[in-house]
Amino acid sequence: MTLRYGIRAADAAAHLFRVTVQVPRPDPAGQRFLLPAWIPGSYLVREFARHVIRVRALSGTKPVAVEKTDKHTWRCAPLPAGRPLTLAYEVYAADPSVRGAFLDRTRAFFNGTSVFLLPCGYRDAPCLVDLFAPEEAALGAWRVATGLSPAQGTRAGGFGTYRAANYDELIDCPVAMGSFLVERFSCCGAAHEIAVSGTVARPDLGRFAADLARVCEAHVRLFEPRRAEAPFDRYHFLVQTSEDGYGGLEHRNSTALITRRGDLPARGMGSSTDGYRRLLGLASHEYFHAWNVKRIRPAAFLRVDLERENYTSLLWVFEGFTSYYDDLALARSGLLAPAQYLDLLARTVNAVQQRAGRLRQSLAESSFDAWIKYYRPDENSPNSGVSYYQKGALVALALDLLIRRESGGRRSLDHLMRLLWHRWRDAGARYEGVAEDAIGPAIREATGVDVRIPLRDWVHGTKDPDLARLLPSVGLELVAAPALESPHDALIGIRLAAGGARIANVFDGTGARAAGLSAGDEIVSLDGLRADSPARLDALLARYLPGEQVELQVFRGDDLLRLPLQLSRRPPQQWRIVASQRPAAAALRLRRSWLGAGAVEPAAIRR
Ligand code: ZN
Repeated sequence: MTLRYGIRAADAAAHLFRVTVQVPRPDPAGQRFLLPAWIPGSYLVREFARHVIRVRALSGTKPVAVEKTDKHTWRCAPLPAGRPLTLAYEVYAADPSVRGAFLDRTRAFFNGTSVFLLPCGYRDAPCLVDLFAPEEAALGAWRVATGLSPAQGTRAGGFGTYRAANYDELIDCPVAMGSFLVERFSCCGAAHEIAVSGTVARPDLGRFAADLARVCEAHVRLFEPRRAEAPFDRYHFLVQTSEDGYGGLEHRNSTALITRRGDLPARGMGSSTDGYRRLLGLASHEYFHAWNVKRIRPAAFLRVDLERENYTSLLWVFEGFTSYYDDLALARSGLLAPAQYLDLLARTVNAVQQRAGRLRQSLAESSFDAWIKYYRPDENSPNSGVSYYQKGALVALALDLLIRRESGGRRSLDHLMRLLWHRWRDAGARYEGVAEDAIGPAIREATGVDVRIPLRDWVHGTKDPDLARLLPSVGLELVAAPALESPHDALIGIRLAAGGARIANVFDGTGARAAGLSAGDEIVSLDGLRADSPARLDALLARYLPGEQVELQVFRGDDLLRLPLQLSRRPPQQWRIVASQRPAAAALRLRRSWLGAGAVEPAAIRR
C-alpha cells in the first residue's frame, strides 16, 4: 500500500506550500496523522506542526471531519471500509536554516519533517511524492535537487514523481527547488552532484568539485581501503549561499549546507581562503556522517520516536569523531597544509580549555542532554557545559595518538572506524545498532589497546584528554601561546555580545564574577571614562596592568551600578601545537602514517 504525497509552491510570496497525502486504506476507526516534532541529526524538539495550517480531509469529493488530538497529531472521522482518504493542508515555510522549510520567489527548500504528515500505521509503507512545478511564470526556470529517486517517467533534476522506500527515507531526503548552479563529479563508483542556490559572483564550482572529490575519496578509502566503494549510488550536496550563514545537516545520500557566498572559491583564486577551507570542512563533516550516524547508528536511534526526544550518551562518538575526521581528511588529502591543520586543532584545544563547564559536565552527559543544553545554550553555558563536538574531537585525537603509540604505529582510530563499519553498518531487519557501552570493547578488539581508563576519565569523567603527553609521540608539542588579543575578554572575564557593550557571558573564576557582573549588563564606564563600546573598553584597559583594581559602571535594566573589580592576574592560557625540537625517528614515522608524507618535511610545521 503506497502513500502518495503531492507538494507545490502554492504562494511563494506568502511562503506557503500546499501539500496533500492520499491514504489508500485509512483506519476505519478514524485515521490519525502526525508531524514529527524534530528532525534527525538536530537534537531539539522544534514542533514543526506549528507551521501547518488549514488542514482539511476529503474522501472522494466529500469532506471528512478532522480534529486536532494533540499539538502534532490529527484524527479524521471514521470512514466506511474501502473508502480512500486525502488530507490537504498548507505549510508556512520561512525558516532559512537546513532544518526546516523555506519558500519565496528566489528558491524553495524543505525537509519532509516539516511538510509531510505521516498517516499513523504507515511508517513502513512505500511513498510516492509528486513535486509540482510552480505555476508562477517567473519561476519557470526552477529545477529540483534531492536524494529522492525519480520514479519512472521523471527525469532526475526535473519536476515530477519521486519515490522513497518508506517514511523514514522520505524525511531523510531534503528537496531544494530553484535555479541552481550545478557541478557533477564521480567518486568511488558514485555520482555526486553539487547544486548551489543563491547569487555568487564568479564562482569556481569546478575547483570546488575537484577538491570535494578528494575529500570524498579520503572518506570512502578510510572505511573501504581495499574496495574503495561508496555506500550509495548517488550523493547530493544541496548548498544554499547567504550573506553570513553557516551550517549543515547530514542525510544518507545527501547533505544540506548553508555557507557564506564569499566562501565559495572564485575563478582564478590562488591559495584557499580560510572561509573556503571552512566550507570544505563542513562538507567533509556531513559526508563522513553518511557512515558515522546514518549507517553506523547508535542503538538509541534505530527507529526513532518522531514525537519526542531520543536519548544517547554517544554523541561524542557520532559528532565528536566526525568533527575529528572532517579536518583530518582535508589534511590527509592535501587541502590543509600540516601547519594549518595543527592551528585548527590548537583552536579547538583553546575553545575547550576556556570553558570552565568542561570540569562540570562529562562528554557522556553532554551527549545525553543535547536536547536541553547544547541545542538550547544560554548565558551560563560556558560555565556549565562542554561541547561534545569540540571535546569529542579532542578525545578522538587523543585516542588516535594513544593507539598509534601503544601499537607502535600498527593500529589507529581508523581501525576502530572500520570495525564499526563492518560490524555495525545498518543492514536489514536484524540490525541492532551500536550499544551505549560498545565503544571501549570495540577499540580493544580493533586495536588491542585497552582504553577503559581514558574513557572513564575523558568521557564519563571531566578530565582533559592528555594531549601534552600524547603529542610528543608524533613529534609535536603543546606550548603556551601569547595571551588573547582582546583585553576585555582576558582581563575582566566576560564576553561581549556582538557589536555593543552588553555582556553576553560572565566566566566563573574571574574578576567579573567576583565583582557581581551579570550577563545582560551594559557597560557604561571604566574609572569614570566612557567605555560603551568594545573599542573604547579595550583602549582604556590597555593602560592597566593585570591584577589592578578598577571601577566599572553598568546599567542593569534601568539601574546604574558601580562595581569595584580586580582585573585578572593571569589571562586565560592559549595553546599552540608545534614541532618538537629533536623528534625521534619513530615519532616522525608515526606522524607520517597519521597525517601523510608531507607532514614530516622540515618546513611543514613551524615552531
Ligand atoms: Zn555533525
